[in-house]
Amino acid sequence: MGVQTNDLDNMAHEMRHGYGFISGEKAMSKTNPGFLEDITDEVVGYQTGYLFNGSASANKVANGEINVAWFNSLLNRNRAWLA
Ligand SMILES: [Zn+2]
Repeated sequence: MGVQTNDLDNMAHEMRHGYGFISGEKAMSKTNPGFLEDITDEVVGYQTGYLFNGSASANKVANGEINVAWFNSLLNRNRAWLA
């Protein structure tokens, strides 16, 4: 995750990944571990984390703003920053 700074937010995000893995919804790869095979895993993780990051962030989840397009824009901003 790395972008958000709230500890509870981060914990909720990572716990959601754990739930996804245990429940079998998370796609894992033996040939390319760690690769984002299913971007919705991250979107759901961010949605869960944002519920624990104050009402403004929770409202973004409720309004559907934290979606695949939002995550792609986050990735593009980070790529630009890393370039
Ligand atoms: Zn994540």
